Amino acid sequence: MTTALSESLLTALIERLAAADIELKVSQKPVRNINFSLKPYQLAVSVPVAISAKQVAQAIDRRVDWALDHHKQLLIRQQQLFSMTPTVAHPILLWGKAQSINLNEQEKLVYYRQQLAEVMPELFDKWQPIVGAQAKETRIKKMHTRWGSCNTRAQRIWLSVYLPAFPIECTEYVIVHELCHLHHANHSRAFWQTVETAMPEYKQWHKMLAGKAGKLD
Ligand SMILES: [Zn+2]
Repeated sequence: MTTALSESLLTALIERLAAADIELKVSQKPVRNINFSLKPYQLAVSVPVAISAKQVAQAIDRRVDWALDHHKQLLIRQQQLFSMTPTVAHPILLWGKAQSINLNEQEKLVYYRQQLAEVMPELFDKWQPIVGAQAKETRIKKMHTRWGSCNTRAQRIWLSVYLPAFPIECTEYVIVHELCHLHHANHSRAFWQTVETAMPEYKQWHKMLAGKAGKLD
């Protein structure tokens, strides 16, 4: 298998996992063997330092069916635990402002999804011509470790369902960020230059999100 082949295998695996809402996290550790650890929404793989990309891709390939299968069971178990715990309703934030309605965790997700779905078309219409890039498909995902993601090949952009907690400019920034990845599939200087040209004040919105659980990809 050539490097290009193992890279495309890895990309295919990342996409299969992402479709099931699982993030693949590979990290090099001083370990002798490749270790897998599956948590809700994340497959963590620790690999020895001296290992080829090909070996990593093949090892993940052998475990991906297992991960997809066990992840479903993991979520069912988590859901059962969740339903046994009384859910407390809390006042919630919408676009950075406290609301006078109390919602529990599940209701909040439904509410945020509706709110985000409502503004998404106009925000993409606003920013696509400014960035000069077009998303073929946009989706709202319950993502736990990132605010947005961009599949450059499929030109598909996902936004985190948790974004409506923050000022709407944060969502606009995430849209700009992901659209800019359609020009640059990395975080190079050229990428950040494109972001800044489109949205000169992006840094304050980036900072507001950066301290919170999500990270941008
Ligand atoms: Zn990014």
